[in-house]
Amino acid sequence: MICLAMPDDTFAVCSMCRKKIPLGSRYFRCSVTACNAGRLKLMFCSLACWDAHLPTARHRNASCIEELAEVKAQG
Ligand SMILES: [Zn+2]
Ligand SMILES: [Zn+2]
Repeated sequence: MICLAMPDDTFAVCSMCRKKIPLGSRYFRCSVTACNAGRLKLMFCSLACWDAHLPTARHRNASCIEELAEVKAQG
């Protein structure tokens, strides 16, 4: 069981609608490398938000990758 009630359990903010993506929930990212490189990684709270990203990014070929919002240990 995942508790989403904690207000500080924010993993990221949706790059499109600025909604919070809570830890432990699912989020979506773009398969295009440029969208996952650098400091500002694009993350989307829903498929609809990823879809809205496509026309702004002008990808020729992109797919949506579903990920789990979890903090990965470094190293
Ligand atoms: Zn969103
Ligand atoms: Zn993209």
